[in-house]
Parts: sequence; structure tokens; C-alpha cells
Amino acid sequence: MSALLELMDVARHYRISGGVLGLTQGTVRAVDGVSLTLNAGESLGLVGESGCGKSTLARLILGLEPLDAGTIRFQGRDITEWPETELRRQMQMVFQDPYSSLNPRMSVRAIVAEPLTIHKIGTRAERKAKTLALLGTVGLDAEMAGRYPHQLSGGQRQRVAVARALALGPALVVCDEPVSALDVSIQAQVLLLLQDLRTRLGLTYLFISHDLAVVGQICERIAVMYLGKVVELASAEALIREPKHPYAKALLSAVPVPDPGHQRVREQLRGEPPSPLDPPPGCPYHPRCPYVMDICCREFPPAFETGQDTGEARLAHCWLHAPAKGD
Ligand code: ADP
Ligand code: MG
Repeated sequence: MSALLELMDVARHYRISGGVLGLTQGTVRAVDGVSLTLNAGESLGLVGESGCGKSTLARLILGLEPLDAGTIRFQGRDITEWPETELRRQMQMVFQDPYSSLNPRMSVRAIVAEPLTIHKIGTRAERKAKTLALLGTVGLDAEMAGRYPHQLSGGQRQRVAVARALALGPALVVCDEPVSALDVSIQAQVLLLLQDLRTRLGLTYLFISHDLAVVGQICERIAVMYLGKVVELASAEALIREPKHPYAKALLSAVPVPDPGHQRVREQLRGEPPSPLDPPPGCPYHPRCPYVMDICCREFPPAFETGQDTGEARLAHCWLHAPAKGD
């Protein structure tokens, strides 16, 4: 498998200023040293509570914000070296709330055709044909072309947003909470559509959600993020069968078990996440962790091997998985 996207020690720190003098009051470490690889054609999930830095990471990948540290390579080339228009064609984003991401004054036809118009692709007639084909691809009737966003249901709006994202034939689609604003019954349909499109069009997804159940349905691998850091990375199957990081365990506890005969060990997520403005020292999860040890309060754990996962080493940033002394 070849790497489509590589993130190396990526960081984004926001300096917050305030007061009458506008002095810097602190630094929010929104993304704090993330390394990840997305292989061509795969679907990688990014999961974590609200505020852990998922959307910031998405914006960094799309080159919408500058990096404070680290490197991002797309198709082997640093994203800062890509011509902006070319990067825009190759990477697209689908957002949580299609109502605010779709221009209310534009018809569905104009919304879906807009990227083709901006990038001056094809003749007017070709763009029209392409737009209708895109609507078909996302399961919308051609008659929807003349409607406006307020005349559509939430699920239909998200389909329009997906059609627009696909217009330029991107290699990578970053989906940021694409179903979080939808009713549960509609969520399933949109997830099925996204899954089907990925295999049909050979897309690569970075799929962001705060909901491990959603990510588990659509992703092959999952990265668990906590206060700006990836704390566990594993195949979706392995992570859901046996999460290794206590935070991943707690996220899984919130996921309902479909089989009532099967009991999962409940491990409640305790308290609120600490402020990224003043993160705790050591492992940022330690104030909430039921297994906290002395070292957790002092040092952020490196990636420890926690076993094998489809032939590869499984990694978790957790002192519980440190090799015993003398190993
Ligand atoms: P998520 O998408 O996981 O909910 P975000 O990436 O939106 O998280 O935010 C991560 C952290 O960075 C939050 O504490 C948020 O308040 C902060 N943050 C995000 N964008 C900015 C910004 N432009 N300026 C200052 N702080 C920001
Ligand atoms: Mg977000």
C-alpha cells in the first residue's frame, strides 16, 4: 500500500490574548504532535471528544491553516509546495452542518457545479451533464437540481454537499462529523452512501467523528485523539474488540452493545476533558484515568507496543503498556 497522506509531528498552537493590553494569556495546544499515515484507498477514522483538535487537524491537512511545527506530505510532496488550486482539486471536505456550508441563495445545480465553474472545467453543457451525473452518484433525482437548500431534508442537503465535494474528482475526502447533525435513521443512509462511494470511486477518507460507533461502521483503522494528541491507533476491528488505552475503553463504553447477551465492562468517562489552555502535565488523560500511576503525572508516554494487529505492531501511548523492567 502506498501512502497518500503523511503527517509528521504536526502541531498547531493558538496564542490567546486578552485583557486591556491584549497580552498573550496562554497557548491552546489544539494539535500537539500528531503523526499519522493514510494509505491510498483506505478510510481512517479520527475519534475523540469535542475540543480535542479534530477539526483543526482537518484544516491543517487541507492547507487552510499554517502549521506551527511538523510536516504534511500529500502524494509524497510537502503540502506547502503544492500549487493551491491543484491541492483544492485533490482534497475536499464535507462538513457537519450542510445547512451552513451550502449557500442558501444558490440552487442545487449551481452549488454542485460551482467547483467546475471556478476551476473552468468543461463547457457549459459539459458542466450541466456532469452536475446531473453527480446528483445521480449521490442518489438524488435530477429534479432536485432546481431546488434550493431550504427545500431539502437534512439528508438530501448532505448528499448535495457530497456531490459538490466529488465534482473535481478528489483523491482525498475529509469528512468532519458528516452525519452528526442528522437523525439516526438518516445517518445510516448517508454512511452507506459514503461507504459505497469510497469503493466505487477509489476514494481515501479521513473520517472524523466524536462517536466511536459511527467511525467503527465506516473505517478500517481508527486513531483515538485526546487533547491534541493521538493516544491509540489500531484497526477498527481490534480497537472495538479490545481497546488498549483507558480513554479508548471509556469511549467504547458509551457505544451501545447490539447483543443484549453480551456484557461489556463499563468504564465510564469521568468528568470533563481538561482545558487545552492549561493541559495537565504528563499524560493529559491522567486526571480522569482509573489506572493512574505516579509516572503518568510526570511524563507523556511514548508509543508502546501492545500486541499484534493484522501483522503490524499495535501502539498505545499509555504507561500501562510499558514493558516490565528487565524485559
Ligand atoms: P474538535 O473538532 O475536536 O471539536 P477543534 O479542532 O475545533 O476540536 O478545537 C480544538 C481546540 O482548539 C479547542 O480548545 C478550540 O477551542 C481551540 N481552537 C480551535 N480553533 C481555534 C482558533 N481559531 N483560535 C483559538 N482556539 C481555537
Ligand atoms: Mg470539530
